[in-house]
Amino acid sequence: MLAKNSQGVYTLSSFNNFKNLIHGFSTVKFGNMKPSSPGQIAETERNLTNFLKTLGLEDPGLVKVQQIHGSKIAVVDKKDVGKGIKEADGLITRNKGLFLLVFVADCLPVLAFDPVEQIVGIAHAGWRGTLERAAENLIKVFITLGSNPKDIQIGLGPAIEFCHYEVGEDVASKFKEAGFGKSVLNSVTGKIYLDLKQANIEQLKGVGIPKENIDVSVKACTYETEEFYSYRREKEKLTGEIACLIGLKDE
Ligand SMILES: [Zn+2]
Repeated sequence: MLAKNSQGVYTLSSFNNFKNLIHGFSTVKFGNMKPSSPGQIAETERNLTNFLKTLGLEDPGLVKVQQIHGSKIAVVDKKDVGKGIKEADGLITRNKGLFLLVFVADCLPVLAFDPVEQIVGIAHAGWRGTLERAAENLIKVFITLGSNPKDIQIGLGPAIEFCHYEVGEDVASKFKEAGFGKSVLNSVTGKIYLDLKQANIEQLKGVGIPKENIDVSVKACTYETEEFYSYRREKEKLTGEIACLIGLKDE
């Protein structure tokens, strides 16, 4: 369940049970986190620094991804800090003191933590990334690093929900052809709505994640709440993206 803490940061309640795990989702109040032009770099860095401070992080090692709406997951370590952005849609690490970031405005942030192996991961899944099975690939990389999917805890952050995610016949048929279940697409009065969260839950269960390990934010449709940026609501006037972070504290 998604809940706001006293600092104004959203977190997933099941993830708060792990003492050495740091995670959170920013809001519009923290400002835009992703520069869409060179002129926005200083402002977004300032906003990000403020957000990190509320999580107790002062100048942490950060790795970001250049989100390309695909499904590639990059395994990163400390030597990736400050090296620029990985061309992928997900990141994974077992390095403590390394924090992974994705930026979203409607797309679904998928956070993953294996408390046994002490591995964290994050992926960004819009409809393309969901169709390409970014979340499933993230778990497959966890498995290659030694994780048992039964141990992996998943957090699905704020995203556009099916109530406001109308898709065309072309997108719908791609999901049908890719073998997604009927509950992923909802037809209402001739319109088709895509349920991103359900599509990701389905693929996570398919790679062995128990249902009870998946913490889903509900009633957090980014289109409906002005606490989050929404590409669908703001269209070409989109004013920003929120940051989604996960990492393990240095002990
Ligand atoms: Zn909605």
